[in-house]
Amino acid sequence: MENTTQTHILSFTVNSLKQKLKDIGMPSFRAGQILGWIYDKGIINPSEMKNISQKDAEKLKQHINFEPLTMVTEQLAKDGTVKWLFKLHDGHDIETVFIPEPNRGTLCVSSQVGCTLNCRFCHTGTQGLARNLTADEIVGQVWMAAKRLGQWSDQPFNLKLHVEKSGFDDQWMLDMLANQKEKGEGVERARIISNIVFMGMGEPLFNWPNVEKANDTLMHDSTFGYGSRKITISTSGMVDNIGNIASSLGVNLAISIHAPDNETRTKIMPINKKWDIDELMAALRAFPLKERRRITWEYVMLKDVNDSVKHAKMLLKLIEGIPSFVNIIPFNEWPGSPFKRSDSATIETFKNTIAKAGIDVNVRRSRGSDILAACGQLRGETSKFNSISTEFPTVVMQYGTDSQKQKISVQFTGDVA
Ligand code: SAH
Ligand code: SF4
Repeated sequence: MENTTQTHILSFTVNSLKQKLKDIGMPSFRAGQILGWIYDKGIINPSEMKNISQKDAEKLKQHINFEPLTMVTEQLAKDGTVKWLFKLHDGHDIETVFIPEPNRGTLCVSSQVGCTLNCRFCHTGTQGLARNLTADEIVGQVWMAAKRLGQWSDQPFNLKLHVEKSGFDDQWMLDMLANQKEKGEGVERARIISNIVFMGMGEPLFNWPNVEKANDTLMHDSTFGYGSRKITISTSGMVDNIGNIASSLGVNLAISIHAPDNETRTKIMPINKKWDIDELMAALRAFPLKERRRITWEYVMLKDVNDSVKHAKMLLKLIEGIPSFVNIIPFNEWPGSPFKRSDSATIETFKNTIAKAGIDVNVRRSRGSDILAACGQLRGETSKFNSISTEFPTVVMQYGTDSQKQKISVQFTGDVA
């Protein structure tokens, strides 16, 4: 039986694994071999690692959890975007999305099951927070996605098979994938997933210790070895932990700003009541950006809410002097969503106002929307568990929906059947 209290293999790097092996009476040189199987060959079951005896494989499994995430569904969108629903050991589920582009393959990972923050435009926000993901569940999304995409297979790219089956013929995407593979430093280092963004379900900075550990693991040479430029953490503005991104990890920072004034921002993002724009900007002005890096500002276009030229000009004023890239996201609707997407002309005018000021700006093309895989459309199935975290009860009590608040207070009074 799987023992879920065991440390998971995907939370180790070579030194910590050496130590663990010593503790269980196995030679430490096996650490490099084991990680080699996992990250260079895509084999995670010790019984399939050819230079490990069956006896040692059994011993390893007794002391370390080697179970990968369980894949429940894999959906392919018409544009090549892939969305997975993964089940966790306790029955919760999360979504992970792969977005192929001509020169890169981006994996959008989740950091929490749900989210406490309840941004009004976000589907994930409607489900409450069930729990934080562990570091190995975050690394596990990258590993499983790489496995499914055929990163380590002799017959590359399972995705290609799916693509053919679905009649999808965007050759550029297949070329990109093949290209990625060739460009890697040897087959082992080739990556279908070139970039990782923490833009799936959850607020990464509300799960900082695990997100930090997962990033450390993903960047370590003994695992995937991602460079810090290849990873981006997106936050809705959890001010207390923003500085850690620079001091500890050095990865890229994206800020979900979405409105340039407190009145509008508070209406659509309840977190603005806790850390308003002034506090957020003070933290960002103090953020030690590395050379040739910039802050990405995410700005969802909500019809008649935040999309006027006046808003664009206020945004420019707000970010003045900060090396910036503005990413405009046309609102992706989801079942029951309370907003409409701004029309194309309004989006274009907003974009041009930013561009004229000399700031780099892009309108993010919606990807995978036919399978609800676009930004803000992820929601898992977890809501059916009716669970909500008690980890951040004050946040839920202050900002949650009425039903979330009620659940929290029921849990707190212990008045639950
Ligand atoms: N919690 C983090 C990261 C996950 S959300 C954050 O909020 O930054 C990733 C991005 O998608 C955020 O910029 C978020 O605001 C945006 N987003 C959420 N719902 C959206 C929707 N319905 N349409 C478009 N973008 C959305
Ligand atoms: Fe949470 Fe980000 Fe969605 Fe807001 S936009 S509810 S912070 S996942």
